[in-house]
Amino acid sequence: MTDDISAVIPFIDLAAQRRRLGTSIDDAIARVLEHGRFIMGPEVAELESELATFAGVDHCISCASGTDALLMALLAWGVGPGDGVLVPTFTFASTAEVVALVGAVPVFVDVSEDTFNIDRTSMKQALEQTARAGLRAAAVIPVDLFGQPADYGAVRDVADEAGLLVLADAAQSFGALLHGRSPVALGHVGATSFFPAKPLGCYGDGGALFTNDEEVAATLRSIRVHGQGSNKYDNVRIGINGRLDTLQAAILIQKLTIFEEELKARNEVAARYEEALSDVVRTPGVPRDRTSAWAQYTILCSDRDRVAEELRRRGIPTAIYYPQTLHRQPPYAGFPVASHGVPVAESLTHRVLSLPMHPYLEPSIQDLVICAVREAVIAASA
Ligand SMILES: *Cc1c(COP(=O)(O)O)cnc(C)c1O
Repeated sequence: MTDDISAVIPFIDLAAQRRRLGTSIDDAIARVLEHGRFIMGPEVAELESELATFAGVDHCISCASGTDALLMALLAWGVGPGDGVLVPTFTFASTAEVVALVGAVPVFVDVSEDTFNIDRTSMKQALEQTARAGLRAAAVIPVDLFGQPADYGAVRDVADEAGLLVLADAAQSFGALLHGRSPVALGHVGATSFFPAKPLGCYGDGGALFTNDEEVAATLRSIRVHGQGSNKYDNVRIGINGRLDTLQAAILIQKLTIFEEELKARNEVAARYEEALSDVVRTPGVPRDRTSAWAQYTILCSDRDRVAEELRRRGIPTAIYYPQTLHRQPPYAGFPVASHGVPVAESLTHRVLSLPMHPYLEPSIQDLVICAVREAVIAASA
């Protein structure tokens, strides 16, 4: 019986989206198969132009994944050995991984309890630690965790004073707004991901970079193709093979047509959760000056593991993002941490629980989730 229910309550429902789009994706794929330009075909430039318009940024450079997007930005800036880059410790591995990959040092920063995003005071403490480690503070990578833009005003204050470049990790927040602007527009460069489970996902790996700096945009385009210069066999820098497949671009063009409506639906789901759960668990607060793309709907509960187990027993899928901070994991354990530690991030790893969230979550199914959470929380606290 449990299995039957979990079959009808997916954590993310990509099948429902596909039903909604009908044959448009199949047709778009068929067109690519027909013209055969699988690498940098016409759909790639078309998508880039649409994404730039959507985000209100001059240049969009599509690429092979969100991780490559972050990596390419650091390569374009020449961040490397001797440089420290501030990153939150409560994030997906990519954010810190790319820093280590270019030979720089990730310096771990705490997050705010209210937004799960990088904390201003902890950023300053991380700068102290960067100097103490003999590193040049080069950049900061704020993450828009679970879809909510980081506090870019505070980030820019600290970054401008310390001379840091800002790379917005908007992998989870494409479609969100802060003061009416896309978070990919709020760093010197913004990066996003089209991994299938992200708010705007393709059918494989994909990502994109955004910037208003024409020179950086040209460098990123060169890095995307092995540091290419004026022609294919002219190499002017070290780059990567970081292109987005034409097929994925064709799929994203179709998905972008319904993206605004999907964002609206996600917001309705979030509002219903808020209304029905905020008296029994800590629900995610979104400050008035921003909107979330609701990549995840993450609640805080003190008896998280018991609540998760009870929901699992009832066939309701949940997820824990993230069960561990990055700086505690072996590959990252040797890197510096903000001077007063990262107590909020550590505490969040024990309390976060993400509930089913997608634009096609029916109210009747959501009610089952809500009812289960309420009963599980009350049972756990009894
Ligand atoms: C998903 C994600 C990435 C990486 O994106 P990929 O496309 O999977 O490489 C980077 N940062 C954050 C915060 C993410 O959630």
